[in-house]
Amino acid sequence: MHFGVLGSGIIGLTTALELQQQFPTAHVSIIADRFNEDTVSYVAAGIFRPGTSFMGPTQEITQQWMTDAFNYWDDIRRSKEAPLAGVCQLSGYIYSRTTPSIVRNHFIEKLLPVYRRATEEELQLCHGGWKYGSFFTTCLTESRLFLPYATKKFLDNGGKVVRQHVQSFFDVPQNFNVLLNCTGMGAKDLCGDQHLVPIRGQVLKVRAPWIKTAFYGDLDTYVLPGFETVTLGGCRQYDSYNTEWCKYDSMAIKERCYNLLPSLKNAEIVRECVGLRPHRSVVRVEPELVSNDQGRHLKIVHNYGHGGYGVTTAPGTAKYAVKIVRDMLAGNSKL
Ligand SMILES: Cc1cc2nc3c(=O)[nH]c(=O)nc-3n(C[C@H](O)[C@H](O)[C@H](O)COP(=O)(O)OP(=O)(O)OC[C@H]3O[C@@H](n4cnc5c(N)ncnc54)[C@H](O)[C@@H]3O)c2cc1C
Repeated sequence: MHFGVLGSGIIGLTTALELQQQFPTAHVSIIADRFNEDTVSYVAAGIFRPGTSFMGPTQEITQQWMTDAFNYWDDIRRSKEAPLAGVCQLSGYIYSRTTPSIVRNHFIEKLLPVYRRATEEELQLCHGGWKYGSFFTTCLTESRLFLPYATKKFLDNGGKVVRQHVQSFFDVPQNFNVLLNCTGMGAKDLCGDQHLVPIRGQVLKVRAPWIKTAFYGDLDTYVLPGFETVTLGGCRQYDSYNTEWCKYDSMAIKERCYNLLPSLKNAEIVRECVGLRPHRSVVRVEPELVSNDQGRHLKIVHNYGHGGYGVTTAPGTAKYAVKIVRDMLAGNSKL
């Protein structure tokens, strides 16, 4: 059995590791043209906090993705691997001045160990005159650490990595039993998928070791402490393909975060990054049989379109995608 995984971001790597776990005797190859700091995954703050509009094929399946993903990250957090994998626990507040529903989240209110309404005193912890708020405890996965950790684990398990850009699924170097398509925004061209839209984001990574708590405010403002840096964000620019850093976005992010926590004005800026979130109204995790003009057929399982929540949900959709692989091989899939 030989599986190919197209893509080496957080989705490709978690899918490749899940394949190795479910099919221990199979050969698994990752094919990708970008790795580590060149992926969108590297830009993410990595907090486990899905948006309430995140959607899989059904509500039930989506909730299962969340549960599986949280358990995966939380198991690593509890293990001795946590510092190597870049997984830690993080607590924080979501505030809003205007909209009570912003501070509620049906996916995680029951899943996280702590998710409760913020007290009146807690609404005063930050500048801004906050009216609504929630306090929660979750996981954070720092891709800067997790991507190389997962790659090493994959290679130690006997996996193979190939650097290659593919124009079509039939460009892959081998005849795989099943190819898993984990290409994020790359799937737009590979699948001709009009439903896949970039949502551009920009963040600052600053050194502020005195910030130990996460804060979200209105207008996509967030302060998320990670292992070495704190991520300040953000912006969400729908259908923008601009991967260049923008000084106006940077100024706006600084102003909003500095208003929230003025001590951040003293923080050294380590780097600023831009990423295009691969957004799809329904995240695509499903099988497809693809054929070309030469009569070649390829069994594909897609796993892309996670938008702003790919780190959160990666292990959940990876588990689901590999279950589809098993069904496909057993002849039980809907194809
Ligand atoms: C500013 C910002 C902050 C974010 N914060 C969070 C957060 O806190 N929590 C969270 O859960 N999510 C967050 N996200 C979202 C998260 O980063 C994405 O959902 C996730 O990275 C998507 O992962 P991916 O593996 O699908 O894509 P990518 O990381 O882009 O990986 C795609 C892979 O496919 C390969 N590929 C694509 N096309 C081809 C091709 N034709 N040939 C060969 N290889 C190809 C690429 O080389 C790459 O290896 C954030 C995103 C941004 C931009």
